[in-house]
Amino acid sequence: MSEKIIQEISDFFTWYQVTYGDEIAFEGDFNLHVSTSAAPPATEPEVEVEKKEQTETPVSQKKFNEHLVHQENPELKAFYHEINKCSKCALHASRSHFVFGMGNPQADIMFIGEAPGRDEDLRGLPFVGKAGQLLDKMLFALKMKREDVYIANVLKCRPPNNRDPLPDEVVQCEPYLKKQIEILKPKVIIALGRISAQVLLKRMDSLSILRQNEQRYEGIPFIVTYHPAALLRNPGWKAKAWQDLQKIGRYL
Ligand code: URA
Repeated sequence: MSEKIIQEISDFFTWYQVTYGDEIAFEGDFNLHVSTSAAPPATEPEVEVEKKEQTETPVSQKKFNEHLVHQENPELKAFYHEINKCSKCALHASRSHFVFGMGNPQADIMFIGEAPGRDEDLRGLPFVGKAGQLLDKMLFALKMKREDVYIANVLKCRPPNNRDPLPDEVVQCEPYLKKQIEILKPKVIIALGRISAQVLLKRMDSLSILRQNEQRYEGIPFIVTYHPAALLRNPGWKAKAWQDLQKIGRYL
């Protein structure tokens, strides 16, 4: 077996393990292809999934610190200070924190979610709750860390009870995201979930349609995949998310 195939299998099982855990779920008949004759001796080396340790602070322990937001990138820092007291829509009144985004200003890859949830509102950072923990695991399986990418949301303030963003909130807040994208100039954008894909592509198609074709946002390759919160509710979709995220490599 070629080294490339062994590597791909190993990567897949790393992804499988970090997103599903140690149990292998198999729907089917294990005996289907088992020959009744004695199995030939194994000649190929066994593929072992290496258990690598994550060295960075787990996202569940990350606390707000302005450096995480702009990492002293002058343009991003200035923009953060320009907008972080925003009161253009009603959401400002109920927020604990304005959640600008976080990550590496030099990142080639930008992930865009919908809006802060409860944990993000309390901690001032995007994707730091359960969905964020899964996002970090997905990054880990792709051999990346949160520190290698930039993460932001369409809305910077939490909608009450995590309801979908209202059209007026999107109208007020989307220009902030647009400006962030202009500053960061990512090589590829990954929309996490239907809402961010619909908002940025200005299309009301379903997620399954939006995932299908190669998309562009202002000329930047744009991959649409499942929101990690949806993957937590529907673990069966994780294999499709893996396929979506494999496309990132085409653009780096
Ligand atoms: N869901 C999102 O879309 N964004 C976050 O930051 C957290 C959860």
